Amino acid sequence: MAITRILIANRGEIALRVHRAAQEMGIETVAVHSTADADAMHVRLADQAVCIGPPSATDSYLNMAAIISAAEITGADAIHPGYGFLSENAKFAEIVEAHDIAWIGPKPEHIRTMGDKVEAKRTAGALGLPLVPGSDGAVETAEEALQLAEEIGYPVLVKAASGGGGRGMKVVQNADELPSLMSQAKSEAKSAFGDSTVYIEKYLGNPRHIEFQVFGDGNGNAIHLGERDCSLQRRHQKVLEEAPSPVISDADRDRMGRTCADAMAELGYRGAGTIEFLWENGEFYFIEMNTRLQVEHPVTEAITGLDLVREQIRIAAGEPLSVTQDEVRFTGHAIECRINAEDPRSFAPSPGQVTSYHAAGGMHVRVDSGLYAGYRIPPFYDSMIAKLIVYGRTREGCIMRLKRALGEMVIEGVKTTIPLHETLIRQDDFQTGDYTIKWLEEWMEQREE
Ligand code: ADP
Repeated sequence: MAITRILIANRGEIALRVHRAAQEMGIETVAVHSTADADAMHVRLADQAVCIGPPSATDSYLNMAAIISAAEITGADAIHPGYGFLSENAKFAEIVEAHDIAWIGPKPEHIRTMGDKVEAKRTAGALGLPLVPGSDGAVETAEEALQLAEEIGYPVLVKAASGGGGRGMKVVQNADELPSLMSQAKSEAKSAFGDSTVYIEKYLGNPRHIEFQVFGDGNGNAIHLGERDCSLQRRHQKVLEEAPSPVISDADRDRMGRTCADAMAELGYRGAGTIEFLWENGEFYFIEMNTRLQVEHPVTEAITGLDLVREQIRIAAGEPLSVTQDEVRFTGHAIECRINAEDPRSFAPSPGQVTSYHAAGGMHVRVDSGLYAGYRIPPFYDSMIAKLIVYGRTREGCIMRLKRALGEMVIEGVKTTIPLHETLIRQDDFQTGDYTIKWLEEWMEQREE
C-alpha cells in the first residue's frame, strides 16, 4: 500500500517537519489549519490546504470529523498526527483505519494500553522492563494505600492513571498526609481527566529523565536508537534535551536499549515510540511510554543520521525497518533547545507579531520552526515557536557551537526563552553534565534572589 498523499493533522514546526520528510520521498502533502493559522508556514508549503475550523483546538485540530472529511475531499491516503492533539488518541487512529487511510502511528490497541498508566506499567512489567516499585495496579482505598506505602517506604507518589503533562501527581511524605492527599489526587484527576483512578509508586528523590527511542515494524521486529537525556525540566516540561546522555555508559545503553527493543518486538509494536525512565544510582525505572514522535526526536536523528519521520512513513506503508540494530551507529553529540514565545523569567506567554526573524545557520546547526518575519504567533496554542538543534563531534564542541548559534538567532517583536538558554548552557553543572530533574528549577530559584 504505497502512500502518495499525506494529510498532516497538526500545526507549527512539526507540521513542517512531516511535510519536509514527505517531499523528500516524493509524497504530496495536505495541510489542515484553523482560521487562526491561515497564514502559517505549514499551510503555505503544503501542496493543498483545508481549513477545518475556528481557532479553538477543540473545534479544529482536535475535530476528528473535520479532519477525516478533509482527508476524503483531498484524496489523502495517509494521516500523520505529529505530537500532541490527536496523536495518542486510539479512537481517532481506529477511525482513520476504518476509512482505509493509513495511520502513521502505532496500532490503536498499543496507543490505548500505553495511554492508561496503570495498564502501561503492567504491560511494561510483563515485557521485562524495570519498574518503579509501587502498587500493582490501581489503589482504591486509603487503607490499601497506607499498607502499600509502608511496604515501599516514604516518600511515595500518588499518580493519576489517566494523567499527562505532569498533572495529577502528589508527593506524600508520611502516613498522616496520605489519606487527604490521595483524595485530593482522586478529585483532581476526576476533574482534569474524567477518571479518578490513581496508583502509588516510590518517589525517587533526585533522578534523571532518560528515554529510549524505539521503532517496530508491527511484525515482531524492533530496534532502539539510543537514549535522550531530558532531565532539564520546568514544571515537568522539557526545556533542553541531549543525546547521548552525559551519564549513560555504552554498555548500559546497549543493555537497556536492547531490553526496550526486545520488549517492543514481543509486543508487535509498530512505528515510533519512546520509553521513558527515571534513572537513579545507576538503575532504570520505567515511568511511561509515548506512542508517537517526540518533540526532541531531532537529537536522535543527529547522532544516528536517520530520518525518523521517513522511517514512520515507510513503516505505515508496510515496508520493513530501513536498518538493523547492528547497522545503527551513534556518532557525536546533539543538543536541542526549545525556544518558546515566553518571558524568559516569568514564563508568561508572549504571542504577537514577529517583526524580524533570522535563523542561526552554519555547520551542524538545524532550526525547525514555522516562523518568518511578519508572522503573527496566535495566542491559542502551545508557546513553542522554534527548536534549535546543534550537533558536534564531542559534547564540548556541541556546547561551543550552541553558544555561537544561540547568539545568531534573531526573533524580534515577541519575548523568547533564548536568553534563558544562553545563561543555562554557561552554568558549570550543565557543562559537566551534572544535573537531575530537580536542577533547573533549583537553579532558577537561586537566580531570582
Ligand atoms: P506525565 O505523563 O504527566 O508527564 P510521567 O509519569 O511521565 O507523567 O512523569 C512526569 C515527570 O514527573 C517525570 O519526568 C518526573 O520528573 C516526575 N516523576 C514521575 N514519576 C516519578 C517518581 N516515581 N519519582 C519522582 N519523580 C517522578
